[in-house]
Amino acid sequence: MTDSAAPDAVLRAEHLAKTYDEGAGRVEVLRDVSLAVHAHEMVAVVGASGSGKSTLLHVLGLLDEPDAGRLWIAGQAATGLDERRRSRLRNQALGFVYQFHHLLPEFTALDNVAMPLIVRRCSRAQARAQAAGILDQVGLADRAMHFPGQLSGGERQRVALARALVTQPACVLADEPTGNLDRHTADAMFALLARVNRELGTAFVIVTHDPALAALAHRRFHMQAGRLNEAGHGAVPADCAVPDESEPLASGEVDKAGHGAVPADCAVPDESEPLASGEVDRAGHGAVPADCAVPDESGPLASGEVDRAG
Ligand code: ADP
Ligand code: MG
Repeated sequence: MTDSAAPDAVLRAEHLAKTYDEGAGRVEVLRDVSLAVHAHEMVAVVGASGSGKSTLLHVLGLLDEPDAGRLWIAGQAATGLDERRRSRLRNQALGFVYQFHHLLPEFTALDNVAMPLIVRRCSRAQARAQAAGILDQVGLADRAMHFPGQLSGGERQRVALARALVTQPACVLADEPTGNLDRHTADAMFALLARVNRELGTAFVIVTHDPALAALAHRRFHMQAGRLNEAGHGAVPADCAVPDESEPLASGEVDKAGHGAVPADCAVPDESEPLASGEVDRAGHGAVPADCAVPDESGPLASGEVDRAG
């Protein structure tokens, strides 16, 4: 296997295949799926229920392994890795947003957002400072001390997005992130995703049932019975290649100001690993819940692509 991939691809998949052996028979969930996603790109994936969209995102997100094919994340070979290396790469380069926010109900919005940094052994103070900055960017500075149960659906999804972004991933994978929201809130959420994409250069792969939202992506793919086909090339905005820095930001919108580099002591040292689920964090705040440690580890970019402010 080669370790090389186009340097500008934050995510590259070649000929992925995955089959589930169910009692009644084999289900080919992914069939020869190839995809390249570049920095600054927003890619939408649409398809019928059961067509394999979530499986694809889980494979792309190193939460599940393909039976065949190859995958690179941020230029690093991501197939054939042991669990420790997979976990570290996921931690360094990816973020996730789910249809159902997967926030931890007993933690405040601030601590939910801080969690991926704490999992990476960042100090609680540093993690909270970083989390507060991201919450501000998604327009929720005044909700930092609220618990998920005290937030609206749209606010919870914005917290989930902040959590996915807090460690400046190269690519965010979002599985129907607006599927549980009303029209107006879904539109606002999608506008926020697009804004983050433009302002921070974060690449997105977004699974959505909503054609109107998919139409806003730079490229659209259709998943059908495990095959992924490009549905048509939209006009790629100029700021896909070179983000527009001149546009002022309205209140509540994502702001790159303050989205500085992750402090050095938040970076994952070469020898260190993310905390395993259940491991007690330094501040003694309790165990890191399993459903945080699995999908929500993400990490800073090796390059300065996403964080163009610093
Ligand atoms: P989508 O997200 O497009 O609705 P999924 O990726 O969730 O589709 O599922 C695609 C197909 O794979 C479905 O037929 C589903 O039943 C099957 N599938 C998904 N996960 C598993 C699993 N762990 N074991 C067996 N079959 C699965
Ligand atoms: Mg799904």
